[in-house]
Amino acid sequence: MEKRFFSEFEAFSREEIEALQLERLEKQVAYLDQNSSYYQGIFRKEIIKSEDFKSLDDLKRIPFIDKYMVGESQERHPPFGEFLSVQEREIVKYFRTSGTTFHPRNFGYTFSDWWDVTVEVMARMKYSTGVRPEDRVFIAFPYSTFISLWTSHYACEKIGCMVIPGGGTSTKERLNLMKSMKVTVLCATPTYAYHLANVARDEGLDLRDIPLKLLHTGGEPLASVPGSRSRLEEIWHAKAFDQYGASEGYAPAGGECSEQNGLHFTEDVLIPEILNEKGEQVAPGERGELVFTNIISKAMPLLRFKTGDMVIYDDEPCACGRKSIRITVIGRTDDMIVIKGTNVFPAMLEEMVKRCPELSSEFMILLDEIEGVYELILQVEPNGPVKFSPAEEEAVKEKLIGMVRENLRIRPVVQVMEPESLPRFEVKSKRVIDKRKMDT
Ligand SMILES: [Zn+2]
Repeated sequence: MEKRFFSEFEAFSREEIEALQLERLEKQVAYLDQNSSYYQGIFRKEIIKSEDFKSLDDLKRIPFIDKYMVGESQERHPPFGEFLSVQEREIVKYFRTSGTTFHPRNFGYTFSDWWDVTVEVMARMKYSTGVRPEDRVFIAFPYSTFISLWTSHYACEKIGCMVIPGGGTSTKERLNLMKSMKVTVLCATPTYAYHLANVARDEGLDLRDIPLKLLHTGGEPLASVPGSRSRLEEIWHAKAFDQYGASEGYAPAGGECSEQNGLHFTEDVLIPEILNEKGEQVAPGERGELVFTNIISKAMPLLRFKTGDMVIYDDEPCACGRKSIRITVIGRTDDMIVIKGTNVFPAMLEEMVKRCPELSSEFMILLDEIEGVYELILQVEPNGPVKFSPAEEEAVKEKLIGMVRENLRIRPVVQVMEPESLPRFEVKSKRVIDKRKMDT
């Protein structure tokens, strides 16, 4: 009989969710007190005992941890740092971060951490978007030591799908494989999903020849960029769903359901806090940094991990029936641009560019000096090989400036570039050039 990927948790009321979190938190603190040399030190210093956890508010007694602290501990105690809470021989799954912003960090999973928690949660998320055993899933990713889409691969196998690995091959070959294997679900970053579509166009391959029904994206925000989502859905003739996670969570942190109105947070595995700069919980709809506490994994769980990701959340029950909070990821705190006293995330500008069908989905953001003042410069290009007429160019500039002013209260300088002249990105995009950092 087909296994249906619902967990009992998904039917829980708010009270039941919080009671489960408290029970698991208390057990996790007791477990770490026994098994983690890092947390033994912290608990002794802060005089924390598992039996002191009477409400979720008591979580605040535990100090934050961030990726730098994890990295430093791993440098001192390679490879896993003082966080390892099991014997090394119990580790069956190994990943490391790509180390683009900091030196790489190592992550180990026990079999149960991986199969019963990480993969199970992802299978649940995929199932809620409509993935079923009869689906043929293509995983467009190089199968590296970075966790990325490994979880999607195993989750789809667990559901019972045919999973086609897209590692070690060119983009063109990937497209041909997707066509010949009649792929119905594609897992990729949003940038790579665009890249695949561009290569298909250049090669004269009609994407309608691939019977895709679902597109699952991760690695870059999508739900906060509705313009990008609708454009991807149009190009691929499929519904696109956003999923989000951070390596330190040991489980996908959020995934969209069929309602597409925010990512349901994995509250049975991770307790979320959404905090302002002072470390206080923000109200629904306000922007804050996501901090989470893993309450179930065993190999190297972290408590109150600062993700560096800015999110907004909604705690109203979803139309799908789930009562977990829903988050929308806006961008990384590291990516935030402060210009003329305004905070701008690249995803916000992306959203506006992608709402202009006359523009291609490529753009660049420059922070550069014009007549002695640093300006926010948005470079865009026509959608297609034909240049705009002067009147068309004027119209699109006016439209974009109007959108940015209305939404961000800042007037950008819009530069329309030659057709197909902006840089193309394959996996993750780097669209911001901050000349202020280079000039100083
Ligand atoms: Zn929902």
